[in-house]
Amino acid sequence: MSREVDERVRRVLQQYSDHLNPSWVRGYKFLGVETLEVEAQGAVIRDAYGREYLDFACGPAVFIVGHRHPKVVEAARRELDRMPLSVRIMPNELMGQLAELLAEITPGDLQYVFFCNSGAEANEGALKLTRAATGRPEFIATIGAFHGKTLGALSVSGREMYRKPFEPLIPGVVHVPFGDSEAVASKMTPQTGAVIVEPIQGENGVVVPPDGYLKALREICDRSGALLILDEVQTGMGRTGKMWACEHEGVIPDILTSSKGLGGGIAPVGAFIARPYLWEAMTKHPYMHTTTFGNRLGWAASVATIRVIQEEGLLPRATAIGNRLMAGLRQAASTVPGMTTDVRGRGCLVGAEFADPDVAFLVLAGMVQRQVLAFHGINRPEVIRFAPPLIATDAQVDRAVEVFGDALKEARALLSELDVAPSAQ
Ligand code: PLP
Repeated sequence: MSREVDERVRRVLQQYSDHLNPSWVRGYKFLGVETLEVEAQGAVIRDAYGREYLDFACGPAVFIVGHRHPKVVEAARRELDRMPLSVRIMPNELMGQLAELLAEITPGDLQYVFFCNSGAEANEGALKLTRAATGRPEFIATIGAFHGKTLGALSVSGREMYRKPFEPLIPGVVHVPFGDSEAVASKMTPQTGAVIVEPIQGENGVVVPPDGYLKALREICDRSGALLILDEVQTGMGRTGKMWACEHEGVIPDILTSSKGLGGGIAPVGAFIARPYLWEAMTKHPYMHTTTFGNRLGWAASVATIRVIQEEGLLPRATAIGNRLMAGLRQAASTVPGMTTDVRGRGCLVGAEFADPDVAFLVLAGMVQRQVLAFHGINRPEVIRFAPPLIATDAQVDRAVEVFGDALKEARALLSELDVAPSAQ
């Protein structure tokens, strides 16, 4: 059995090397995952060897109610058995129902929704809607932001390494430090169509802005007639303990974007939702912004996921999980001094920062080899990001903490053997 699995793994890694990307294979080898994902349930993934992994990476930050939540699977299966994709030429109940539900659970008068298939696509739509509705072409974005990797979304993202090879990006974008509302005010011009920010920067290593930041941005935008776009692709759907992270400050954006958890871990679903007056442009030209796929299966999963979050009390649970996890990680970090420089987050979005990305990778690899999955921040690899599902148990949180502590100790011992100080590399 094991030899047969070895052969399947070898063949797949060869296919990845020859036809996908050999660098991915090197990454899998470094992390110790020369294996195949096979099935998943709740917070646990099983590989081709029958080994179980605790999933605190979640895709990243996708499996908000865990893998294959029975109610979400049931709703999706119903559509699979009758009509998983819309033909688009006639209306369907699911899209109407999900749009109405999103209008209900998003703050203020956010009302009109466009459905798409990813976070980047949701942000593309938000940027385009801004230009169409305001006639102002420019954007203020933040350093370290991650809004996706299509050309428009990349233009407002904030890591040079990913931007440089694709320049020139869309013109009229300025980047300011995240968390600094005065920097936004200082760059505002009559041509600024919108300020786009994440309520918490996820891929930049879970950066939580100072209290009052979103409120200040709201006021600056109101004063200057620019829109406020909140990218809740990672922070939304309950991840931070509220359905949307902007609710922590009682701020209503003009456009809110969502994806990741929105598809309930069953299908890719993205959306942007806007205030009614902005939708005039879309109403006037209903085919100005379109996409082929109408994902009935995904929309059914979304409706079921929202109900599960509401009915199973998962918002307070996200806060409880996050508090337990952060307390545990801080305690573990304090027993191996000089390694972790910060532990921070909100609800089920938590980051542990290291002085050096190589040390973070070493600790991450140690965790993965002990069968607990987390992820590094794409824009800040020195941060290990934990995005547990909102259904994680206390015992699973404690297991993740224990393994983090063991991986820290192992990395510390290795660095000592090599006579390398973690912060001085
Ligand atoms: N916006 C945020 C805040 C994200 O974290 C991500 C992905 O990590 C995206 C947008 C892009 O989403 P996608 O990868 O689905 O295009």
